[in-house]
Amino acid sequence: MSEHSFATRAIHSGQRPDPTTGAIIPPIYQASTHVQDGIGGFRDGYEYNRAGNPTRSSLEVQLAALEGGVNALSFASGLAAEDALLRGILKPGDHVVLGNDVYGGTYRLLTKVLAPWGVETSTVELSELDDVRAAIRPSTRIVWVETPSNPLLKIVDIAAVVEVAHAAGAVVVVDNTFASPALQQPLALGADLVVHSTTKYLGGHSDVLGGAVVFGDDRFYEQIKFQQFAVGAVSAPLDAWLTTRGIKTLAVRVRQHGENAQAIAEWAAARPEFAQVFYPGLASHPGHEIAARQMSGFGGMLSLALAAGPAAARAFAESTRLFQLAESLGGVESLIGYPSDMTHASVRGTALEVPENVVRLSVGIEDVSDLIADLEQAVAGIR
Ligand SMILES: *Cc1c(COP(=O)(O)O)cnc(C)c1O
Repeated sequence: MSEHSFATRAIHSGQRPDPTTGAIIPPIYQASTHVQDGIGGFRDGYEYNRAGNPTRSSLEVQLAALEGGVNALSFASGLAAEDALLRGILKPGDHVVLGNDVYGGTYRLLTKVLAPWGVETSTVELSELDDVRAAIRPSTRIVWVETPSNPLLKIVDIAAVVEVAHAAGAVVVVDNTFASPALQQPLALGADLVVHSTTKYLGGHSDVLGGAVVFGDDRFYEQIKFQQFAVGAVSAPLDAWLTTRGIKTLAVRVRQHGENAQAIAEWAAARPEFAQVFYPGLASHPGHEIAARQMSGFGGMLSLALAAGPAAARAFAESTRLFQLAESLGGVESLIGYPSDMTHASVRGTALEVPENVVRLSVGIEDVSDLIADLEQAVAGIR
């Protein structure tokens, strides 16, 4: 399938009609184990489903094809994928460099779960390459990149960070959740591994949790697969199937998310109620040029700083109607969030704190004039 373009791969990779009945969509293999033809006679390699399940395998083939990887593993959540990746690669005493506005759950995992195990972490402004160089120690094993970042949509030059990290012998992991492989392919820019919360754009319909690790080469597959098998945070067959179904429409969804977000960003940039619009598709965004180079579109996420301050931001987040107040992102329906007290509550008082006048929008694929009308009425209410 790799000879086909992205939208085609999203639909066909890992998808074979059922060989028995010809059903165009393979069945959901809702089973915990597989019968053996004699002891050790595994059919197609399947035995107990913590080790492997055909529905999960289909999704893994699809995920690897989308990111241009050699392999992928599918997990019960994005953080389960991150945990397996980190434990699979790191040992006590190792050091990880993180962006200073990394996803709060990643920060929590490293500083609250893996720190007691002996892993050390530094946060750094990843767009300042000298700062990245200075943060790297002899024990640095991983440089962890998220671009666009959450919730301020900062852009990091992936290829530039890869060069710095590789020169120091560190591995580069990119959390590609915000862009999705439809817009950005970190492995092609030199990254070693990609992680996803497939809960977001890949699943795309706010109906399933999931996560993935995608491998640029064979170095880490066995050890991370072992973590998955030994711990068991695998995706359930129905969850894997829902994610596969979501991915088939990824290319068209992401195109519409981006069009809608661009229109909303331009609308907001012209309004005095917003002190700042964080969207890489605006030419005024400091990362616009890098984003235009390393992404094929600017995505559906944007954040707004309310000029009138934190109380106005809270009121705004509570007065939209189509934009529903909820955590998460990347679904077809538009969401609004107040990061300081929602997605980023766990990083209050840390280096990752988010300005209190910021709201975050996950722009859905509803008609954009309805979305802008909703934001209009919400702005009118807080004036
Ligand atoms: C949601 C998210 C995660 C965590 O994924 P879960 O599926 O919620 O465990 C990791 N990184 C980013 C950027 C996310 O948005």
